[in-house]
Amino acid sequence: MTRLVGIFGHPLSHSLSPAIQQAAFDYHKIDALYQAWPTSPEELALEVAKLRGKLYLGANVTIPHKVKVMQQLDSIDKMAMDIGAVNTIVKENRTLVGYNTDAYGFIKSLKEGSGIDPSRKRALLLGAGGAARAAAYALAQEGVARITIANRTLNRAVSLSDEIRLILSDVLAISTDGSDLLKAASSADIIVNSTSMGMRHSEAEGQSLLHSEAIPASAVVYDMVYNPSETPLISEARQAGAIVVGGLGMLIHQGAADFLKWTGKDAPIDIMMEAGEKALSQIASN
Ligand code: NAP
Repeated sequence: MTRLVGIFGHPLSHSLSPAIQQAAFDYHKIDALYQAWPTSPEELALEVAKLRGKLYLGANVTIPHKVKVMQQLDSIDKMAMDIGAVNTIVKENRTLVGYNTDAYGFIKSLKEGSGIDPSRKRALLLGAGGAARAAAYALAQEGVARITIANRTLNRAVSLSDEIRLILSDVLAISTDGSDLLKAASSADIIVNSTSMGMRHSEAEGQSLLHSEAIPASAVVYDMVYNPSETPLISEARQAGAIVVGGLGMLIHQGAADFLKWTGKDAPIDIMMEAGEKALSQIASN
């Protein structure tokens, strides 16, 4: 019996998860298919209910369903509840359980890619959407000294900072317009882009919120956007002399944690990374 796993999202053409996860299933010779399931908000409840069928192991969830999907599940893991978003569904004893593995994937890849220990560092987080929630939670759990959350829509940054203040006292919310952003960047040890700015085929393709003059040479600059792999922010940060980390590692480590939950087997990280890089270069050449 071929088991099924997939990803719910809208649109889904950008997703590397099918290539990455299928490589892991094939490596372990598990009879399973990982599929892309383009799903509109109106279709989400019906599509998630299908996971209760016996063929299904679980699913990933991406833009724009990470919050809404929580209503369709039987239980939510504590970390996902604290973050307020689910990116992974696992079928456990016939119930659908929601997890957040974005936070784990982010912090693991930040440490691996930069070699730094985030504790006591000052972090500037660009964005206040689902991915930013996971990053803010993970940075606060790591014991950073301060998080400044900068977002185009200031009130979203304010509400995220209010939530994060429950675990870290020094949290500021600012707008991405104006001098506050430049000031926050100048004193940041870690700068994380969790907006979709710079993403291929997005309205802000080719754009960066920060230019090289605003980035300290001593900073670590992490861009969650992984398509293209050399984003405008990564290239500005390189010019500034900063340490740079791209978002593919987050996707791989998040996916590895999911694979373990679905199959009980350790994920073949190198094989998944190779599949992700190959899929990315195919997208780039199209
Ligand atoms: P989301 O919930 O839709 O949030 C989008 C964020 O980007 C918001 O803060 C939004 O600001 C900001 N934004 C969008 N367009 C902008 C523009 N033109 N100018 C300034 N700010 C803009 O999306 P998400 O789930 O957080 O994902 C954000 C990005 O992270 C996406 O590119 C996604 O692919 C990436 N991501 C990567 C990984 C990984 O594994 N590497 C995992 C998750 C997400 P407003 O609040 O003002 O709209």
